[in-house]
Amino acid sequence: MSANDFLSGGFAAAPESSDHFEIKKSYDLFIDGKWVKAPKQFETINPATDEVISRVGFAGKKEVNQAVKGARKAYDNLWSKMPPAERGKYLFRIARLIQERAREFAVVESMDGGKPIRESRDVDVPLAAAHFFYHAGWADKLKYAFPGAEVSSIGVVGQVIPWNFPLLMAAWKIAPALACGNTVVLKPAETTPLTALKLAELIQDAGLPPGVVNIVTGAGDTGQALIEHPDVDKVAFTGSTAVGKAIRRSVAGTGKRFTLELGGKAANIVFEDAPINEAVEGIVNGIFFNQGHVCCAGSRLFVQESIADKVIKKLKKRIESLVVGNPLDKNTDIGAINSGEQLARIKNLVKVGKDEGACMWQPSGGVPRKGNWFKPTLFTECAQSHRIVQEEIFGPVLAIQTFRTPQEAIAKANNTPYGLSGGVWTDKGSKIFKMTTGLNAGVVWANTFNKFDPTSPFGGYKESGIGREGGLHGLSAYCQVSY
Ligand code: NAD
Ligand code: MN
Repeated sequence: MSANDFLSGGFAAAPESSDHFEIKKSYDLFIDGKWVKAPKQFETINPATDEVISRVGFAGKKEVNQAVKGARKAYDNLWSKMPPAERGKYLFRIARLIQERAREFAVVESMDGGKPIRESRDVDVPLAAAHFFYHAGWADKLKYAFPGAEVSSIGVVGQVIPWNFPLLMAAWKIAPALACGNTVVLKPAETTPLTALKLAELIQDAGLPPGVVNIVTGAGDTGQALIEHPDVDKVAFTGSTAVGKAIRRSVAGTGKRFTLELGGKAANIVFEDAPINEAVEGIVNGIFFNQGHVCCAGSRLFVQESIADKVIKKLKKRIESLVVGNPLDKNTDIGAINSGEQLARIKNLVKVGKDEGACMWQPSGGVPRKGNWFKPTLFTECAQSHRIVQEEIFGPVLAIQTFRTPQEAIAKANNTPYGLSGGVWTDKGSKIFKMTTGLNAGVVWANTFNKFDPTSPFGGYKESGIGREGGLHGLSAYCQVSY
């Protein structure tokens, strides 16, 4: 498929090249510092072109067991005993190597998962490096992180991650675990294994001792085998609420520590005194960032009744200008939907939205012929009971409702099984405090949206999960802190 097959929104095509690095024809599993053949393999495709990029190993119980054994050996003999400042040096080295190879990681991330290069280049990869830098700094300062406490490591950590931020989620998981003296077995998502495997190569280049990080690719069964393994001391999962619930059941009574980062249905609330143009940008970023494949996406817009018509008009005008197309093109705003399966889920819920009586709007532009695409979509005339208001769509689809008073906005915003994030747009500081304390959400942004930083804890209430990642809260999930 050539770059010309993609639409470029009236701009000259500006694709990032993909010829300055190597993607191997196939990848084995990274276990105990060595590349180990899996009994089976599966393909990973480019969702923007439907082309096969590479083949990766499908780890079964035996390989998962081998990886956990490798992690245990490295934990007992080496990593947990290493002077913390030495551990920190390895983390610094990994962070620097990610920076040096940033362009390669960004392109591979966009090819394997479909996200725009602008995002993988400016968000995913720099934040992944930042997570390693941040936690490198903590490695030898844990006793200052928790003053007066005894701080020690936990052991072997089993980590399972999703396909929406593949490298970044690997960094969120691996960096704090290693900083605190634990060893890791990580399972990437089936549609986006490549940047985790490239990270394994980078970790080898960094000279990290064998077994400290193990990467086993595979599907849900592989994740389940890892989480259920009796020699895993802590489980860290990011993904769907359904799988999160199953994991919570499986770890119950085992003594394993766990953190779960699950779905969301965030309310983005715009008051009549808000700076409207900035709010429109925030709404667009909130729901269309990463095609809406974002657990904290601002997927429900609440706009104060008095300005609803104006905001929706401006929003539609702005959406008309978004470029949907080649993820590798630097002009692209909205890339490919991550998989055919996810596209089917989105289409199904959008149909439900129409059937239930909400009013759908999409911009006039087309989408590329091959690959998985969904236009940015708005729904007005939504009711609280509509499934598109209650359920996570995980795609570029925004459900719009109106409100009259702050109390009404809080009541409607909190009326969901989720509680991960939220946004408030207003000129008035006191209203920000009222709203942010009233919303049951782990993260609430004010006059901005989707801002992330390794120093800031992230996580949810209710069915959005349990535990926090990032900052001191995230660090405490990877060590034993006893006072
Ligand atoms: P999923 O929860 O099935 O997959 C996430 C990860 O868990 C993958 O690595 C997968 O292989 C693994 N997994 C699957 N079943 C498992 C099991 N029983 N035990 C252990 N690991 C298991 O998510 P999905 O099917 O890819 O997506 C479904 C929906 O989940 C999406 O539509 C979206 O709503 C939600 N989702 C949320 C996030 C998030 O960041 N919160 C990420 C991805 C998907
Ligand atoms: Mn892929």
